[in-house]
Amino acid sequence: MDLNKSIFENMKFRKYFLYIVIFTIIIVIWKLKATDNTGDNLQDLKDILHSHKHFLHITKQQLLLFEQLQKHINYEPIPVIYAITPTYYRLVQRAELTRISQTLRLIPNIHWIVIEDSEEKTNLVSKLLEESELTVTHLNAKTPPFEKLKDKEPSWKKHRGVEQRNAALSWLRENLTVGNQKGIVYFMDDDNSYHLNLFSEIRKVKRVGTWPVGLVGGLNVEAPILDPKTGKVKSYRSGWKPNRPFAIDMAGFAINLDLILTKKEATFSYKMERGWQESEFLSFFTTKEELEPLADNCTKVYVWHTRTEKPVVRGLVKGFEV
Ligand code: UDP
Ligand code: MN
Repeated sequence: MDLNKSIFENMKFRKYFLYIVIFTIIIVIWKLKATDNTGDNLQDLKDILHSHKHFLHITKQQLLLFEQLQKHINYEPIPVIYAITPTYYRLVQRAELTRISQTLRLIPNIHWIVIEDSEEKTNLVSKLLEESELTVTHLNAKTPPFEKLKDKEPSWKKHRGVEQRNAALSWLRENLTVGNQKGIVYFMDDDNSYHLNLFSEIRKVKRVGTWPVGLVGGLNVEAPILDPKTGKVKSYRSGWKPNRPFAIDMAGFAINLDLILTKKEATFSYKMERGWQESEFLSFFTTKEELEPLADNCTKVYVWHTRTEKPVVRGLVKGFEV
């Protein structure tokens, strides 16, 4: 008797539950039908996601992606960020590239150009790029032996990444045409650390944008100093030669793609004085006054010039891809 009662109650409960589900579905369909503009629907959905973001574990970045999707549907294309990464073989290479590729996976509309400093493309990098599921272009360009940093030499002794960044610039100039797409070019070394907010700042660049870089040049941060009256860059807080035309690290600027495509003569060179690559390269495109200060008027640090310590390895265990 008791058993029958509980079955009966259970069925009754199920019936109510089913009514509630059907009712909810009808309401949702009705809501969606009532607004047949996709943009509005997305706005509703975004508001719902926003108000439930803690419950749903939605990150700010995913919300941003949603915002951009919405803009896209309203026919405002989001500029593609062409991130240029030179890389070379050492024990920490896979760790570095994993870190950077997994940062990039959180960013919409990224085209990652990876240039290996090697005679041929390696399996290690090819596999990593394939597994990243990112839009990638994989190139290789070997640094000439004479220009290559020796094992014990301090890093400032030689230019690094010259050959590789030039290969990426050539690829862009050979494969893309001016005015065909909105894009921004950023030099993204494989050992730096990147905050997700950096990419939203990069996307704001019209011609040439700049922002502070943490842990560089013997300072906790290098940052452009703005003129309070004009809001433009007046000078630089830099640990080394702040009077350079652009005392900015490679990680502290990004350039409009069409500018890169138009100024074909702009490349990096071994002939440049050490520490002047950024200044010489930027001089092709802009003046100090024309720089666009980003990251809250250059008050926020969204990228760090971190350098990975060379690990001391006393033995190599076979059979592992590290
Ligand atoms: N790099 C390279 N070949 C080299 C040394 C460096 O391709 O022989 C790459 C490196 O992977 C990085 C960029 O060039 O993406 C800048 O090098 P590094 O980080 O050593 O320079 P630093 O931090 O001292 O400016
Ligand atoms: Mn570095």
